[in-house]
Amino acid sequence: MGTIEAERKLGEDGCASEKPSPVMAQGWAAKDKSGLLERFEFPLRAKGMEDVVIKVLFCGVCHTDLHQLRDDYGFSRYPMVAGHEVTGVVDDVGDKAAEKFWKGQRVGVGCIVGSCGDCGVCSDGIEQYCKKKKWTYNDVYYDGTPTRGGFASHMVVNYRFVVAIPENLPLDAAAPLLCAGITVYSPMKFYGMDNATRGKTCGVIGLGGLGHMVVKFAKAFGLHVTAISSSASKEKEAREVLGADAFLLSSDAEKIKEAEMTLDFILDTLPVAHPLEPYLNLLKVNGKLVMLGVTPTPMQFITAMLLDGRRSIGGSFIGSIQETQEMLNMAAEKDVRCMIEVVPAEYINKALDRLDKNDVRYRFVVDMRENAPKM
Ligand code: NAP
Ligand code: ZN
Ligand code: ZN
Repeated sequence: MGTIEAERKLGEDGCASEKPSPVMAQGWAAKDKSGLLERFEFPLRAKGMEDVVIKVLFCGVCHTDLHQLRDDYGFSRYPMVAGHEVTGVVDDVGDKAAEKFWKGQRVGVGCIVGSCGDCGVCSDGIEQYCKKKKWTYNDVYYDGTPTRGGFASHMVVNYRFVVAIPENLPLDAAAPLLCAGITVYSPMKFYGMDNATRGKTCGVIGLGGLGHMVVKFAKAFGLHVTAISSSASKEKEAREVLGADAFLLSSDAEKIKEAEMTLDFILDTLPVAHPLEPYLNLLKVNGKLVMLGVTPTPMQFITAMLLDGRRSIGGSFIGSIQETQEMLNMAAEKDVRCMIEVVPAEYINKALDRLDKNDVRYRFVVDMRENAPKM
C-alpha cells in the first residue's frame, strides 16, 4: 500500500475542485450499545501541517473499550471506532510534524489526541487532565469531525500526541503500553513508588491488562509485589511468569486478614464496584490506595479504615505524552513486556466477549495488518 495522498476531485470542466475528496479508512465500528463491531469505512480527517498519518499495525483491547462500546458511562456516540493502544508506522507527515517524525517510523498513540495547550495543567505538562482534551475516539475533534480509534487501517493524529516506539520493543507487545502501561507507570511515579526505599511493598487488585503491568513495572522499580486476584487459576503464573512475590485470593478472608497492614501501596484495577474495606486494611499506616478502574456504578466504604492508619485513597488517569515516552524508553531498557494474545481483526467481537468474561492472559492485541485497504 502506498502513501496516502488526498486526491483532488475533477470537476465537470476537468479542473481540480477546491475540496479534496477524503481518503477512506477501513475500520471496525459499533453501531449501537450492543457493542458489536462491524466493518466500517469512514473518511480520514484531512492531514494538516501538524498531523501524522499512521498506518495502524496493532491495537490492544482495553477494558475501557468494552465500557465505551457498551455505553457503560452513558456518553457513547455511534458509530464508534474504538481502540486506544495503537502501534504502527508513519505513512505521511504534515510539514510541521516532519520536524519530529518521518515516513516509516515506528510510532504509538494512546488515549488522547488533543489538549488546549494553554491551560494550567497543559502548562504543567499533565495535559491528560486538560478540560479541553480530545479522546482518541468517542469524541468530536476541534474541526468538528468524530475522533476514531485504532481498530482501523489508519489514523490522523497531531504529532504532539504521537510517541516513538523504541527499536527493541516489538510493535505487538508494545501496544498495551500506550494505555495499560502508562496508566500504571504514572501513579507509581507520582506516589514515589519508583524511588521508594528498599523493602517497600505494593499490592495490585485485579490481574488483567492493567494489573499484570503493575506487577511488571513494580518489579522493575524494585518493589515487593502482592497480586490480589479473584482467580485462583492465576496464582502460579503470577508468581512464576509475571514475577509477583506473593499472591492473595480475594475470596480467602482468612489470608486477607493475616496480611493486614503489610502494604505501602495498592493499585486497584477492578472494572466493577467492589467493597474497599478488606483492601484498606491491607495498608500500613500512611498507606495509599490508588483507584485506576472506572466503575460504572458508585462505590461506598466505611471511613474508619481510612482514619485508623492515616491512609489515603487517590486516583489517576493515564499519563502525559512526555511521561508515556519516558515509560516506553524504560520498558525498552528494562525489558518490561506485556503478555499478549495476538488475534486477527475478525476476532475482535470474540476478544471483547472473552475480555468481559475475564478470559485473557493478559491483553488481547488485534493484528490490524491484514485489515488495511488496498490503495
Ligand atoms: P481487565 O483486563 O478486564 O482486568 C480487570 C481484572 O479485574 C480482571 O482480569 C480480573 O482480575 C478482575 N476482575 C474482578 N472482577 C471482575 C469483573 N466482574 N469483571 C472483570 N474483571 C474483574 O481490565 P483492564 O483493561 O485492566 O482495565 C481495568 C479497569 O481500568 C477498567 O475499568 C478500565 O476502564 C480502567 N482503566 C482506567 C484507566 C485510567 O486511566 N485510570 C486506563 C485504562 C483502563 P482477577 O481475575 O485477577 O480478579
Ligand atoms: Zn485503556
Ligand atoms: Zn489544556
